Amino acid sequence: MLGGMMSACINHSAVEAVARCKQCGKPLCGQCVVKGATGNFCGATCQQQNEMFAKKAQDLEKKGALGPGTSSGGSIIGKLVALVLLLAILAVAAAYLNVPVVGPLVRQYLPFLPLP
Ligand SMILES: [Zn+2]
Ligand SMILES: [Zn+2]
Repeated sequence: MLGGMMSACINHSAVEAVARCKQCGKPLCGQCVVKGATGNFCGATCQQQNEMFAKKAQDLEKKGALGPGTSSGGSIIGKLVALVLLLAILAVAAAYLNVPVVGPLVRQYLPFLPLP
């Protein structure tokens, strides 16, 4: 008999599923379930995919733990570049608008700017 919530095995429509493939979510009976290192699967393909995914996730975690300046450092450099760009834009704008103090300073220190 099939329960209301539990689905039938994808291979045996008369058999109630006891597990679900961790990779694709297909319902499986005790006969069809493939037990892998990372969970229950419908077959070797899903098992390999999931194990590969788990390994990649582990590698990413290791990289993040080993190199504090690798993954997070990139974003800090990106923020610095964005900040410098913003300052440059503000400085150029100040020079163009002849803002007191800032405008003349920019003209003095950045003579290569195409200012009017
Ligand atoms: Zn599967
Ligand atoms: Zn089955």
